[in-house]
Amino acid sequence: MAKRTKQSPLDFVRTGPTQYINRARILRTAGDYIAPWGSRALISGGETALAVSEERLSKSLDKAGIKWRRRLFTGECSPRHIAGIKGDARAFKADVIVGVGGGKSLDTAKQGAAELGLPVVCIPTIAATCSATTALSVIYNDRGEFQRVRIHSRNPSLVLVDPDIITHSPGIYLRAGILDSLAKWYEGRAVWPSVRNPDVQSAAAFQLAEVLYNGHRRYAIDAVRLNAEHQVENALIQTLDIVILLTGVIQTLAKGTLFTGLAHPVHNGLTLIKESHHILHGLKVGYGIMVQLCVQNCPKKEFEDALSFFRKLGLEPSLKGLKLPFDRNLILRVADKAANDPDIGPLNFPVNKFVVASAIERLEKRLA
Ligand SMILES: [Zn+2]
Repeated sequence: MAKRTKQSPLDFVRTGPTQYINRARILRTAGDYIAPWGSRALISGGETALAVSEERLSKSLDKAGIKWRRRLFTGECSPRHIAGIKGDARAFKADVIVGVGGGKSLDTAKQGAAELGLPVVCIPTIAATCSATTALSVIYNDRGEFQRVRIHSRNPSLVLVDPDIITHSPGIYLRAGILDSLAKWYEGRAVWPSVRNPDVQSAAAFQLAEVLYNGHRRYAIDAVRLNAEHQVENALIQTLDIVILLTGVIQTLAKGTLFTGLAHPVHNGLTLIKESHHILHGLKVGYGIMVQLCVQNCPKKEFEDALSFFRKLGLEPSLKGLKLPFDRNLILRVADKAANDPDIGPLNFPVNKFVVASAIERLEKRLA
């Protein structure tokens, strides 16, 4: 078991997962890649994730001589489920934890592994976030309310992406993942001018955000089409690398602070609206990008450009488009929560609840 330290994970520079592979049908040989990390694997995943991955995964683990046990993940990345995964890992004497599924399932596996000092392998079966590659878990309570973000001292040891599995998931996940990823560029740009004397890793993260932006503009629309057709081709592979790997590397390099502009705070504000709870994280963050552009009073061309990208993805970034109510009192509360978000970066434009509320109203009118 790894030696525990009292140092803060923010003290040292990290970049991304130790190993990352994005290749069709990679799970058939997953055991070969997992074997160097452990010989007793606790596999934790949701019902759908386990169903789509289990046959390929379990056969290859058996072939590689890895003993394994399954744990069904349900609900939230909450203290109760984290304790459950730790209990099962101890009982099985697991020396590696394998998380399968979407962000909540992977975050739970990562948190359990971090607390036990075990390596974690992430196998994302959807591409709605960069959770598979980052060194953090977002903790909720069992009612699904956000509690806090826990930063880990290391990124996952191994990430196995099987694009063939991802193309068989509903397209809305990939579209949400693209928008959540795109926020790194928009939020980074909003914060960057105010960062005094940036260190080399923040500067590198900012440059990578430009690679991310250009990659999405080039490949994302085709990737969404390929996903719908269940085709694994270059644009899809590139987009998965950007959404899962590059976004996570940027997040890790910049220690998460450089890239909190206004898109994520607007997302957090939206959680005050009950009807928003079932909407995917990335779709709400995408809406937050458009609100941020309105707050910034960006040039008309930039706004139209972003809007046309959203529409090509088949999304309408307005409250109406998200099927959320337009209520002035509620909007003021959402704006208040967003403007006072504790993680908000140093922005180069003024932000308060009235500025944000007015941007939300203007966006709604513009898209009516
Ligand atoms: Zn996000």
